[in-house]
Amino acid sequence: MTEAIARPQTFESLNPATGDVVGTHPIQTEDEVRAAVARARDEALWWSALGYAQRKEHLNAWKTAITQRLPELAELVHREMGKPVPDAVLEAGLAVDHIAWAAGHAKKVLGRRRVPSGMLMVNQAATVEYKPLGVVGVIGPWNYPVFTPMGSIAYALAAGNAVVFKPSEFTPGVGAWLVQVFQDVVGRPVLQLVTGLGETGNALCRSGVDKLAFTGSTATGKKVMAACAETLTPVVIEAGGKDSVIVDADADVTAAADAALWGACSNAGQTCIGVERVYVHEKVYDEFVSTITAKARGLEASADGKVGPITMPKQLDLIRSHVDDALARGGRAVVGGADAVGDRFVQPTILVDVPEDSLAVQEETFGPTMTIAKVRDMEEAIALTNATRYGLGNTVFSKRNGMAIAARVRSGMSAVNGVISFAGVPSLPFGGVGESGFGRIHGPDGLREFTYPKAIARQRFKPMVNVTTFDRTEKAEKQFTQVLGLLHGRGKKR
Ligand code: NDP
Repeated sequence: MTEAIARPQTFESLNPATGDVVGTHPIQTEDEVRAAVARARDEALWWSALGYAQRKEHLNAWKTAITQRLPELAELVHREMGKPVPDAVLEAGLAVDHIAWAAGHAKKVLGRRRVPSGMLMVNQAATVEYKPLGVVGVIGPWNYPVFTPMGSIAYALAAGNAVVFKPSEFTPGVGAWLVQVFQDVVGRPVLQLVTGLGETGNALCRSGVDKLAFTGSTATGKKVMAACAETLTPVVIEAGGKDSVIVDADADVTAAADAALWGACSNAGQTCIGVERVYVHEKVYDEFVSTITAKARGLEASADGKVGPITMPKQLDLIRSHVDDALARGGRAVVGGADAVGDRFVQPTILVDVPEDSLAVQEETFGPTMTIAKVRDMEEAIALTNATRYGLGNTVFSKRNGMAIAARVRSGMSAVNGVISFAGVPSLPFGGVGESGFGRIHGPDGLREFTYPKAIARQRFKPMVNVTTFDRTEKAEKQFTQVLGLLHGRGKKR
C-alpha cells in the first residue's frame, strides 16, 4: 500500500530583495474557507443591521488605527513585496483615504431615495435603495497589497457586506495585518482572512459567497470567472493593462517625461495602471527621448533604492523575453537593455523603434520598462493606444487638447497632465474594459458594485384610469391610448 503524500499545511512569504523568510501562514482548505464564509454570513446580519452611521464609525476607527500604525504597515509591505518604504506609505495613505470616502458616502449613494414615477404612473411614489449582497469574497494581488484589495474591501464593507479576504501568497502578512487591525478596533470578524495558494482562492470562488471581487492577472481572472460560473456567483474582474502615455506637440515635455518615468518604473513597474508604452508627437519626440533618457540614467534598482526588486521570481523571465524580443526585432535600448534583467532586480529600460506587434508593445510586461514610439499626429497616437485587447488606464500630456484626446481613448480611466492621478480620487470609478476586466471599485459605482438595487412603487392614490385589472373597461383602454398619444405620439406623421 502506498502511503499518502502529506500535503504542506503552511507556506512562507519571502523578502524578494533578499530571499529571507518574512512569515509563515496556513494553507487553508476548502472546508476552512467554507467555515469562514459561514461565519461571515452571521456577521453580515449584524453588520448590515447596524446602519450607515454606526458602520461609518467602525470604518473610521479602522482607518484611524491604520493611519496611526502606518510606519509598521509600510515596513511590512516593504519586506514582503519589496517596494521602498515611502512608496508603501503613499500606497497605504491612499487606501486609508478610500476607506474614509466609502464610509462617508455610503448613505448618500446607497440609501433610499425618491425617484420620479413618470406621467403614466403619477399615482405611485417610487423609491430605490441599494442593499448589501451579504458576503463578498475578495481575492487580491501582491503588487499593491493594501491599496488594491482595499478598493473592494472598504466599499463592500461600507455597503453593509461582510468580507472574506484571500491575499496573494506573496503578501499574506500584509493581508493578516489589515484584518487583525480591523478585528482589534471592531471586535467582530466582519472582515476575515483566508490564506493559501491558488487552490484556496479557487475554494473561495466556489464557497457560495454572494459576489467575488478579483484583482490579478487576466489569465487568473478567466479561471476565477469559470469557477464562479458554476454557482452563478457574480464577479468583479480587475485585471491587467498595457497603459500608454500620449505626448502632444504642445505638451510640457519635462513634466511628461517625469510622469512617464515614474509611471513606468515606480513599484519596479509592477503596477496594473503602470506606463508600458509612450507615443510622442514627432515635433517633440527627440526632446522627450533625450529628457527621459537623462532622467532615467540616474535611477537604479536596488534593495534600498527608489526602484525595488521584482516580487515574483518567474516574472523576471517574462520581462527578459519582452526585452529580447524587442531588440531582436530591430528595437534599440536607449537606457538599460538585455543585461538589465538580473536575478532579483531589473534596471530601468527604455526601448525605441520597437515594432508595434512585438511582445513589449502588446503584452503586459510588468517591469520597469517602456517603449517609446514617434507618431505623426494625435490621430495615430490614439489609434495605436487603442490597438490593444486591454483597456485599463492611460495618460495624456497636452496643453490644449488633453480632454479631447483622453475622451477618445478606449480605457476605463485617463489622467491628463498627470499620471495615475485618477486612482487617488476616491469619487472616480476604477476599472477597465476588454481584457482589463469589468465592474468597478471606488466612487459611487464602487459602492453600488457590492449591492443590489431594491425598487419599491407605493400607490399614493387610486389611478384615474385603472388598466391593471380584469374589470378594465373599454373606456379606460381608450383613455389610456389617448394619454399615450398625448405623451409620446405627437409630431410629424411617420
Ligand atoms: P495573479 O493572477 O497571479 O493572482 C491574483 C490572485 O489570484 C492571488 O491572490 C492568487 O493567489 C489568486 N489565484 C491564483 N490562482 C487562482 C485560482 N485558480 N482561483 C482563484 N484565485 C487564484 O496576479 P498577481 O498577484 O500576479 O497580480 C498581478 C496582476 O494583477 C497583473 O496582471 C496586474 O495588472 C493585475 N492588477 C490589476 C489591478 C486592477 O485593478 N485592474 C490592480 C493591481 C494588479 P496566489 O498568489 O496565492 O496564487
